[in-house]
This record gives sequence, structure tokens and C-alpha cells, in this order.
Amino acid sequence: MSKVIIIGAGGVGTVVAYKCAQNPEVFSEIVLASRTLSKCQAIVDKIGAKNMTADTVDADSVEQLVALLRRHKPDMVINVALPYQDLTIMDACLECGVSYLDTANYEPRDVAHFEYSWQWAYREKFEKAGLTAILGCGFDPGVSGVFTAYAAKHYFSEMEYLDIVDCNAGDHGKAFATNFNPEINIREITQNGRYYQNGKWVTTGPLEIHRTLTYPNIGGRESYLLYHEELESLVKNYSSIKRARFWMTFGQEYLTHLRVIQDIGMARIDEIDYNGTKIVPLQFLKAVLPNPQDLGENYRGETSIGCRISGLDKDGKHLTYYVYNNCSHEEAYRETGMQAVSYTTGVPAMIGAMMYLKGLWKKPGVYNVEEFDPDPFMEQLAVQGLPWHEVLNLDLEMD
Ligand code: NDP
Repeated sequence: MSKVIIIGAGGVGTVVAYKCAQNPEVFSEIVLASRTLSKCQAIVDKIGAKNMTADTVDADSVEQLVALLRRHKPDMVINVALPYQDLTIMDACLECGVSYLDTANYEPRDVAHFEYSWQWAYREKFEKAGLTAILGCGFDPGVSGVFTAYAAKHYFSEMEYLDIVDCNAGDHGKAFATNFNPEINIREITQNGRYYQNGKWVTTGPLEIHRTLTYPNIGGRESYLLYHEELESLVKNYSSIKRARFWMTFGQEYLTHLRVIQDIGMARIDEIDYNGTKIVPLQFLKAVLPNPQDLGENYRGETSIGCRISGLDKDGKHLTYYVYNNCSHEEAYRETGMQAVSYTTGVPAMIGAMMYLKGLWKKPGVYNVEEFDPDPFMEQLAVQGLPWHEVLNLDLEMD
């Protein structure tokens, strides 16, 4: 019998709440909390599970978080609020003796900078407290790391080249919208690109490198090299990797809007004075863009996210390996009222919590997902709505 608190009631939080409610034998009590109680209550009412309640917290305040955790005494916090809140939630977990899981690395508000150092610095504190912190347990980061760990465990003696490929071939019918929190999304993709090669990080201009990649059941899509946070932990945990890159698809229309948003200063994350009020342009833009949670209804098509890996197999022979999941926006919407990007993030977050609560991913300290046994997680992915497929000795298109 285990109790969890989900913090964050956006697109991802909604999916996590649905999926926890579907697994009452693991999640015997569920609390959904965010800044806005009415949003949490509406989700709880819609799901209609007897073991789920709503609460409210400002997760920027350790004091409020501690009060929330003392009120409910959960076994784990599933943090699907924004990356700004990671450290305050980790602090509160330490103070109250609660384990922790998130889906995105900590980011300071005033600079878009992606690295795990801030959270890895908590390792000793979690170890000493006998608590587990699982970092980056969405799809990417998350399943991308579990896929890599699965490849290392079952197929490779040395993984040499890793490409994480993320395609959204869906159409929501809007001129411009982001699939998850617009502020976080635009901060991420307007940064310089970066990839790992022969022990060094190579920096590129934003979206400078691109190529057409072929995705299963979808076909060719223009894919752009981005920096993505899981690259940092994967090259550290698999020292045989010579090159690691991350690719994401964008349509021309999306990129044109993005360029205009940047050119006119709406992607700025510093404060400006507007008629005596301080505003951050990107936060204002978020307020006028479509809410990612409302995209689901008319979303058609599917996502395809996977890992393309080459290297030496267990017998020392050359091997190429592609493991991926395709997820339909329509099916995700039918099940949870959310589109596939929220779905593919929320399902793995629930599974990560399940792994911890079943004692399979329980070890004191702060870990990235690839540091745990991938097998039980992969088993659950297939059961919980994200079936995966693997192809060996395919042309990976990844020279
Ligand atoms: P949304 O913007 O839809 O939702 C964010 C939620 O967090 C809202 O409910 C909001 O509350 C809540 N929140 C924000 N600030 C606070 C605060 N100070 N205290 C309490 N609650 C707060 O985001 P998404 O659901 O799209 O994304 C959630 C997370 O998932 C993000 O961190 C994102 O980076 C991550 N993500 C990870 C992916 C992966 O594959 N690893 C992919 C996609 C997203 P309120 O509504 O009350 O304002």
C-alpha cells in the first residue's frame, strides 16, 4: 500500500493521475497538487477514482511543500510541475523523508541552462537519508535512457554511436502551438545545439544541423540536432560511446513562427517594463498561445521516439539496433483527454514511481534512469500503453 503526491496538474500531471488511478494495487492513495486547487479538483472529479484527492501548493516555497508532505505523508513525490521547482521539491523531500521522481532537469528561471550538476549535488544527502531520487523519467529524458540501458544489457558489449530520434508527425490544426509548456519548450529549442564526440562537446548554432530521417509508419521528416539533457548522463554512464546526438522533427510552419517570435523579442526571458509592470516576454507569450492541454481533441497522427545505436555486439561483431515507440494522439486523447506528448511523458513517470514502490528501483541516492534495471520498466511500458519495437541490423541513416 503506497501513497504518492503528484505535483503539477498540467498535461503531463493529468496523464500521471489517470495512469496511477489505473494501477490501484500499487498506488493505493493519490494526491494531485498544484498552485491552482480548482484545476486539480477538476481532474480528480473527471477521473472519479475513490483513492484520489486534490490539494494545493506553491512548489517554489519549501515551507509550503513541507506542510503538504507532512499533511499527507506520501512514500514518493512525482514532480511534474516545471523544472524551476526541482530543487525546492527535493529539499522538502529530504526534510520529510520522502523519495522523489521528476521528468526534467532543474533550470534556473533567469538563464536557460540544461545540466544535472545542481541535482547530482544532492546525491550524498539522499544517500544519507536512505531516500531515492529518480531524475528525468519521462520519455526523453526517461524512456530514451531505459532503451539505451536495455540495449547495453541485452545486445552490446560496446555501444559506440547513439542517436535519440524524436518525431512528432501529428497535426493539431493550429497555426502555432507547443506540445508541452510553451515557456519550457521554447527555451529549450532556441538554444545552441550540442552533441558529444570523442570525449568532447561540440556546439552548433540553434537548429543548424538537420537531415531527413525515416520514421516507422510515418516516413521521412526533417530532423534537427538539439542539445537534450539525457546526453549528459548517458555519455557519463556508458564510457564506450564515441558520439551521442539528439534529433527532433519540426515542420517549416513551426520554424517560421519560431523565427518571428525570436526576431521580435518575444522569446526573451529577461524582465521588461510594460506600463510600470515587470513582465517576461516569453511568459506573456505563453499566456496567449494555445494551452497544450487543449490540443488533444483535434490532434491526428502519431509520435515516434526511439534510440538508434551501433557498436559491437556481445560477440564483438558490428551491430545496429533501433528501439522505438509510436504513440497515437487520438488514442492518447481517448484514454486520458491529453495528446501523445503529454501521454508519452506521463506514462513513464507513473512507471518509474511504480518501479520504486515495488522495490525494483529503490536505492538511496540520486540516479538517472539508465542506472536501474531496464527490464521490469520495459515490461510495464508494453502493458501501460507504450508498446515498443526493435529492429536489428537496419541502415540507421546516422553517418
Ligand atoms: P504545464 O505547463 O501544462 O503544467 C505545469 C503544471 O505545474 C501546472 O499544473 C502548474 O500549476 C504547475 N506549477 C507550475 N508552477 C508551480 C508552482 N510554483 N507550484 C505548484 N505547481 C506549479 O506543463 P506540462 O504538463 O506540459 O509539463 C510538465 C513537466 O513535464 C515540465 O517540467 C516539462 O519540462 C516536463 N516534460 C518532460 C518531457 C519528457 O519527455 N521528459 C516531455 C514533456 C514535458 P497551475 O496550473 O496551478 O499553474
